[in-house]
Formats: sequence, C-alpha cells, structure tokens
Amino acid sequence: MSTTLIQPWTLRGQRLLSTRALLTNNVIVAPVRPSPATFSSLSTVHQRIVADFRSDTLTQPTDEMIKKVMLSASRGDDVYEEDDSVRSLESHVAQLTGHEAGLFCASGTMTNQLAFKASLLTPPASILCDRRSHVYRYEAGGLASHSQTTVYPVQALANKGHHITVQDLEREFVVDDGDVHMAPTRLISLENTLDGTVMPLQEVKAIRRFANENKVLLHLDGARIWNAAVAAGCDLKDFTQEFDSVSLCVSKGIGAPIGSVLVGNKGLIKKARHFRKMFGGGWRQAGGLAAAAHWCIDNVWPTMKETHALAKYLAEGIEREGKGASIYQPVESNMVFLDLAGSGVLLRDLSRGLKEKGIRIGNEDALESQTQVRLVLHWQISRQAVDDFIGVVGELAEASAREGRVLPGGDVGDKKQQSVYGRR
Ligand SMILES: *Cc1c(COP(=O)(O)O)cnc(C)c1O
Repeated sequence: MSTTLIQPWTLRGQRLLSTRALLTNNVIVAPVRPSPATFSSLSTVHQRIVADFRSDTLTQPTDEMIKKVMLSASRGDDVYEEDDSVRSLESHVAQLTGHEAGLFCASGTMTNQLAFKASLLTPPASILCDRRSHVYRYEAGGLASHSQTTVYPVQALANKGHHITVQDLEREFVVDDGDVHMAPTRLISLENTLDGTVMPLQEVKAIRRFANENKVLLHLDGARIWNAAVAAGCDLKDFTQEFDSVSLCVSKGIGAPIGSVLVGNKGLIKKARHFRKMFGGGWRQAGGLAAAAHWCIDNVWPTMKETHALAKYLAEGIEREGKGASIYQPVESNMVFLDLAGSGVLLRDLSRGLKEKGIRIGNEDALESQTQVRLVLHWQISRQAVDDFIGVVGELAEASAREGRVLPGGDVGDKKQQSVYGRR
C-alpha cells in the first residue's frame, strides 16, 4: 500500500491537520509544501479525488469509514424501523436541526420530493421557489408528477439577484380567493446555499413571517445548509428551525457515500416514511450507510470552514493570475464560478491543461462559445491541487495575452444562460 504526501492547506490548529490526515486514505501530512513531483506520485484513486473540482458529490469514502465505521454499524432492517445506526443518525440530525424527527433516504431528490408529497398539497395547488432552484429545475419534473402541483418560479430582483426576498415572493404569490383560474400558493421552498451563495438568516426569518401571515408551509432544500451555517457563522438550527421541513444531503459537503436526511414534525416524517415505501425507497440493512453519514457529520463537517477558505484562495489566485478571467458570483462557501472570456483562454484548453496535472473540471468538452464553469471544492481537495490550478490558469492566460487573443462574450449580459454545471 503506498503512502501519499499531501500538503495541509492550513496551518491553523494542529487538531484540524490531524483530523484531515486521519480522514484521508493513506495520507501523511507533509510539513512542507510538496513538489509537483510528489503530487503526481499520488496513487491514481487518490489523485483523482484531491484534484476533482466537478462536484462535492464526488468525495470518496475513506478506508477508515469503510473498515471501522461501516463494519461496526448495526445490521437491522430499517423498513421494520429496527436499525440502530439509522435511528441514531435520524435522531442526531433531528436534534442538530431542532426538529422532532428525521428520515434517512437515498438521495436529496427523494427527501425533497417526499417533503412535498408528505405536505399533502391537494390540487389545485402551487409552490413558489427561486427560479434557479434544484426542486424546480433538476428533479426531473418530480413536483408535477408526484405532488400534482404547479411551480411559480420566482426571480430574485433585489441585491443583484443574490437571493429572493419577501418582495419577490409577494409578486408571484397566488392568494386563495376562490378565483377558479388560479392554483393557490400552498408552500414556499427555499434553497440554501444556492449556487454557493448564502441566503442571510434575516431574510429567512422575514420569509417565515410572510409564510405564517399567509398560512403556507415553508420547506428548505438544505442540500448544502451545512455550508450555509458554517459560512454565516451560526448554528445549523438557527436556519433549520424556521422551516416546516428540511432536506439535508450528507453525500455532498459532509462527505458521506450516500444519502440525505429529511427532518420535520413526527406526523410529517410518518407520512414521508409511508410515501418512501411507495416510491420504492424503503431500504433494509442501511445501517452501514447511516453510520458513515453520522461519522462524517461529526468528523468531516468541522473541516468545512477550511474548504471555504480554500475556495476563496482559489478565486483570488485565478483573478490575480488570470489576466481578465473573472469570478462572477461571490465566493461565499465552496463554489467558484469562473468566466474565462476576459482572459482569451478557451475553456476546452483550460480543461486540457488541467488534465495534464491530474485536475478535473466540469464541461470538459465545452463548445468554443462556452466560457464559464462552476468549480466545486470539498474536504478532499488538496491545497496542492488548488496551487496547480492557479498555475495552469496563469500559464494559459499569459500565452493568450502574448498572442493578443480575446474571446467574444466577455461582457454579455446573459452570462448565466450558459450551462456551467457539467454534472451536478
Ligand atoms: C444535489 C442537490 C439535491 C439532491 O441531489 P441528489 O443527487 O438527488 O442527492 C437537491 N438540492 C440541491 C440544491 C442539490 O444541490
């Protein structure tokens, strides 16, 4: 078994360094920055993950998770509600979020869709959410199919479109006044973080008051609420207790292999459990997965602040070295939205240059007109990979500046029309 060297990307606190070292497979924390040669000597599997910027879903379970945590998990049947590790995870997340009960499921799509279904919205009914929301765009039309509701997507107009506000919701709100043309609003669904940005707690509270005044439910797609709480410097509960239901992914920033937890009151979770079975999502000996998720919440989540700092470091490096490459969305958590247009570097060329260093990004075979890409950081990304990334951007931007290359579309207003995700 080969041992690998990895540069700690923080010198703050020995505890964190040792946590990272323990969590990452076969890794020794190097006291000095390793040379590129050391980096390329990483095992293939490991190298892939420390330098994979496509998504935070790509984190890999470590040997420790598999050998110690999953091996010692309970092996009861969760459909019988007899598995201790699953129950322990569910009550742990319920407690962390200030809710009565939790339900561990296979995916965030499932926990979102179960939340809507278990909210028992009867047609004609509609839902309000940000037009960029996952529940509206990336869940295969599940809302219409499972819950027979219409979505009124809301555009964020204030604060440069950073997040939707009560005013934005008021514009689209459908009052239940007996007008037979309309599907009244029954639920508002928020997402936090959304494209890596944090909806401030103050706004969440204002929307909660608005929901109460209008007697509608409030759901949170909190796939990355872990990141939002860390970025906002507050307790997870501060955000989550404002909602009737919350979906929290454990397979993203938390670093668990699989899953998502839905929390809410006992009645809602009971319904959700029933519908989960109907969806075909009742799982049996799920304890190993639950134990891994539980362990990741306790051990990986505490390192998230450093991941966010690394994202900022990457963004600053790109802006410094990129000769016109711009970061067009504020870096508030673990995502960096890069636009290469101003630098004259083709996304395809960047992707190729990075690949030579073992670094992967989304949109690998981008069209020439594509200049934007989303970079996602996670707990297994190394500081070395980020430094290499900045280096490649610098070299390509330098070459392009020498040749006087410019790409069209540097200042186009419809930037966000480009598909920047690659894969979610
Ligand atoms: C990833 C994600 C989900 C759920 O995705 P799954 O792949 O189904 O687990 C839901 N909402 C948001 C915002 C997400 O990023």
